[in-house]
Amino acid sequence: MDWIDLEDEYERLYREQRKLSRKEHGSNNYENQRQAVGKVKRHIRQKVLDYQHKLTIWLVTEYDAVFVEDLNVAEMLQDDGNARNKQAAAWRQFITLLEYKGELYGTHVVQVEAAGTTKECATCGVETAKPIWVREHSCPSCGFECNRDANAAMNVLQRGFAELGLGWPESTSVETAFPTDTHSVSAKRVVETGSPTLNEATPVAE
Ligand SMILES: [Zn+2]
Repeated sequence: MDWIDLEDEYERLYREQRKLSRKEHGSNNYENQRQAVGKVKRHIRQKVLDYQHKLTIWLVTEYDAVFVEDLNVAEMLQDDGNARNKQAAAWRQFITLLEYKGELYGTHVVQVEAAGTTKECATCGVETAKPIWVREHSCPSCGFECNRDANAAMNVLQRGFAELGLGWPESTSVETAFPTDTHSVSAKRVVETGSPTLNEATPVAE
């Protein structure tokens, strides 16, 4: 699936907002421009929603289990910035759609604890502080190296497996642990062989 591209839309929004800032507050021109800004915002929201519909359908038809980070409420309360709230709202909408479609297609959708997924080493579990500009994960404890987001995704995958009562298969090396890799356990295959029930501890599927 292609990633959503909102560059043009945000450029337009920026332009319209600039125009608004030059209008006299309370004038007819201001009111008209305010509506023009609203129109661009609605267009963006609709485009995001359409995209989320397509993405969630694709996910639940492609996989039998999808694991996502939950919304970190504590973090959100600390930082009530507007951009962050919007991002959180978009994520909440995405999860809601995903869960709804997971129900329809019989796909497990599991929210996992988001805290520490970036810091934690996916191989050995040791936590390392990682400022946002550090794009690589390089573990001082076990030496495991990979992309920052890939490491976080592996942690989400492991937490999801744990939630479903499935262990991380011993034979699977972390390097080959992506769901698309045929040499590793895909989420689809694991869930098919294990057929676990949500929130119920089941033995590790072999
Ligand atoms: Zn490590």
